[in-house]
Formats: sequence, structure tokens, C-alpha cells
Amino acid sequence: MSSPEFDVVVIGAGIVGASCAWHSADAGLRVAVVEAGAVAEGTTATNMGQVLVEDGSAAEFELTRYSVHLWHELAPTLPPEAELRPIGTVWVAENEAELQVAERRHRFYRHNGVRSELWDPEVLRREEPQLRPGLAGGLLVPDDLVVTASPVARMLIERTRSAGGVVYDHAPVRAISRGRADLAGGRVLSARHIVNAAGVAAPTLSPGVPVRPRKGHLVYSDPRPGFVRHQLIEVGYVGRVLDVRTDSISFNVQPRPGGELRIGSSRQLDRWDADVDPTVIEAMVVRTTEFLPALVGCPRLRTATGLRPASPDGLPLIGPWPRQEGVWLATGHEGLGITMSLATGRLIADQLAGRRTEIPLEPYLPSRVLSPSPGAAES
Ligand SMILES: Cc1cc2nc3c(=O)[nH]c(=O)nc-3n(C[C@H](O)[C@H](O)[C@H](O)COP(=O)(O)OP(=O)(O)OC[C@H]3O[C@@H](n4cnc5c(N)ncnc54)[C@H](O)[C@@H]3O)c2cc1C
Repeated sequence: MSSPEFDVVVIGAGIVGASCAWHSADAGLRVAVVEAGAVAEGTTATNMGQVLVEDGSAAEFELTRYSVHLWHELAPTLPPEAELRPIGTVWVAENEAELQVAERRHRFYRHNGVRSELWDPEVLRREEPQLRPGLAGGLLVPDDLVVTASPVARMLIERTRSAGGVVYDHAPVRAISRGRADLAGGRVLSARHIVNAAGVAAPTLSPGVPVRPRKGHLVYSDPRPGFVRHQLIEVGYVGRVLDVRTDSISFNVQPRPGGELRIGSSRQLDRWDADVDPTVIEAMVVRTTEFLPALVGCPRLRTATGLRPASPDGLPLIGPWPRQEGVWLATGHEGLGITMSLATGRLIADQLAGRRTEIPLEPYLPSRVLSPSPGAAES
């Protein structure tokens, strides 16, 4: 039997696939990337672009912290279009109970080497004067970033090409199996490993992968330079994200380089459509004005929607997929795919190249969703 053409074929050129491809090429592997459409036009093109440490679970914390570190390493090489900005996150506590959550997070972050600063209501008002009076406080995480992900994905794909990788775009993959990817039109690519990084479409190529779309809306305001200075998120956001089955709205606002505000965040499970729902937009704006009252009646310049690839337990699926020999998964990142993309690519490449990974893999291995333990059942 002839030897395979590639060491690894990565399916999907969103930020996750691009990172897998680049890290694999960087590890000296022969790489092909196959993208159904154009590079970075899936969910990678429609999101808030926050690169942030989150502590929904110990495993989520570990992966986001590792990945934020990799983003800081990559930062000096990013093109201007990536709009990388070190604006930090402020977690806003509405009441005493949320302040206690922020205090716990502060202690945990400090203990684990993540810089953070607890703000009392006076400091919060001084730093973000547009926030309404009467809030309980805030937690600044200064090393969190904001980025525009599509140019980063395109850059990583170009780097993959420069390292000898081959990129097929507008080339949907019809089927994958051990050692091969069958492209529309009849071309077959052979490889030692296939990486399925097809985002919400991953289950169409790897049946049984429990990834479902969790739709999100975005709203853009008129330009208001200096209106807010940080990424602002309510403390209650993390709990709502983890409750995968319940649709939700949370306060999440970001200043854009042009001065307009990008407003999140909504979640609706199992919605495949791209339609903008005016009732969801209204609910997001109402929630936003509960924190930023001066935005009542503010013009909305545009809206957008995207599909987050959600796993049942909120953690991504990174590693071999036991139901398809030779197939690896890199999907299921839900609302943290931009943040986690660099760590995901690195973990995949380290495994494929037989190198030691820098953080333990176990919490992210896809095999966990096949075990009968509660909360990890296939849906
Ligand atoms: C409203 C919203 C806000 C968000 N905010 C943030 C945030 O602030 N921070 C953060 O970290 N994350 C955020 N996310 C999540 C993040 O955008 C996603 O987790 C991430 O983009 C997923 O990247 P991906 O590469 O897995 O998927 P995608 O970008 O969707 O890429 C998958 C690619 O696979 C291709 N593909 C599919 N099927 C095939 C096939 N058969 N053959 C070939 N190619 C195929 C698709 O065309 C696509 O290009 C947000 C998401 C939304 C919707």
C-alpha cells in the first residue's frame, strides 16, 4: 500500500481548524486543509472576539488560561486587521451575591497566576461612569483581549501554506474515514490522521458527535467613542452559559475601535437559522440598558447572528473520536472558540507529533461523551 499523501488533513478553516493546521505544520507535519466555503466565514466571522480566562469549571479555566497565554505570544505577529486590543474584562456584580462570586473568582485567579483587581462601587463608577449607580462592584481581568478572528484565521492558513501545507477552499468534504477524506467532485485525500474541525457541522462527518448549534445575536450601536473602556460582562453570564438547555440573555458590551458598541449576548439551543429575531434583539437591548441607561433609544446600526458549536458539558471535544478510527475532533467550543482556538491547535498538533502536551488532555478527550456518567450522555 502506498504511503499517505499527508500526515494530517484538517477539515474546516475556521479559527479552530486554522490553528490545528498551523500548529501541525509548525510541528513539521505535512498538512492539508479543506474548507467547504471561503476561509474563516463560518462562526469565526460572527462573534464578540473576546479572548478571556473563564472559570466555569477547572478544565475550562485551565484551557482558557493556557490559550490566553498563547494569544499573548502570538499578538506581536498579528496583522492590523486583527484589531487585537488589550482592553481587559470587567465582570460587573449587580448585587451582594454576585459580588461574592466575583470575590471568589478574584481569589482563585490570584492563586492561579491570573491578574485581577476587585473594584468597589466607587472604583467601578469612576472607571466606567456610564454604568448605573447602585451596582455592587466589579472584577477587572486586565490581561483579557479582544480580537477580530477572521483575519487571524486567514493569517494562520497563509502560514500553513508557507510551511508547505496545501489548502483546498470551496471544497466540501462529503465523507471521512480511516486515512481518507472524500471531497465533492471525487477527489480523495489520503492522510495518517483526519481532524474534524467543522464547527457546528462536525456531526455530519462524524456521526454521533454530540455538538449542537447554540445561536447567538449581536447588535452594533452608533459610534460613541470612549463610552465604555473595557469589555463589560455581568457576573451572572457564566452560569447562564453553563445551563445549555435554557435560552438566555446576558449583559455583555464591548467598545469597538471605531467607537460603536458591540452588544451581546443571546443563546438559543438547536436553532440552525441565521434569521435576526427582533424580540431577541429587543431583550438584549433592554438588558443592556439596565446596566447602561444612557443607551435607552440608541440607534442600532446593524445586527448579526452566528451558531456556537455546543457540547453537552460545555467543554470542547479535542482528541481522537473513538467511533471513527484515525479521526480526531476539534470542535464543541461553544462561546469560547476564539479564546480556546490556539490551545486547541497546539494540543492536537502535540498529540499528532507525539509530543508531550503542556496541560493535561483528559478533560477534553471526546471519549468522555461516550461514557455513561451523568451529564456526559449523548443527546
Ligand atoms: C454571537 C457569538 C458571540 C461569540 N463570542 C465569542 C467570544 O467573545 N469569544 C470566543 O472565544 N468565542 C466566541 N464565540 C464562539 C466562537 O465564535 C466559536 O466557538 C468559534 O468561531 C468556532 O470556530 P470553529 O472554527 O470551530 O467553527 P467555524 O468558524 O464555524 O468553522 C468551521 C468551518 O468548517 C467548515 N465546514 C463545515 N462542514 C464542512 C465540510 N463538510 N467540508 C469542509 N469544510 C466544512 C465551515 O464552512 C466553516 O468554515 C461567539 C459565537 C457567537 C455566535
